[in-house]
Amino acid sequence: MTCGFCNSSPTESWLSSWCEDCAMLRRLLLVNEPKKCIEILKRVLLRNDKQITNKINLEIQKETTADDQKDYEKPKTRATKSFIDR
Ligand SMILES: [Zn+2]
Repeated sequence: MTCGFCNSSPTESWLSSWCEDCAMLRRLLLVNEPKKCIEILKRVLLRNDKQITNKINLEIQKETTADDQKDYEKPKTRATKSFIDR
């Protein structure tokens, strides 16, 4: 049997009428408030080409300006050295 919601995937089990993904969507809607979920999905999924380009550029900018000194062990200053020696 095919899913009663998306009409494309097979149902989760013999007794179920929804596929695995749609069943998960339903559970998420039940755990949270449906109106809240709709607002989130609208904000994330309903974007025009300009918004998508802006989002991509923002992510690239984040990547290039990321702190590349994270893996580098900072030199011990006198204050920290004396603290360790004690
Ligand atoms: Zn489905």
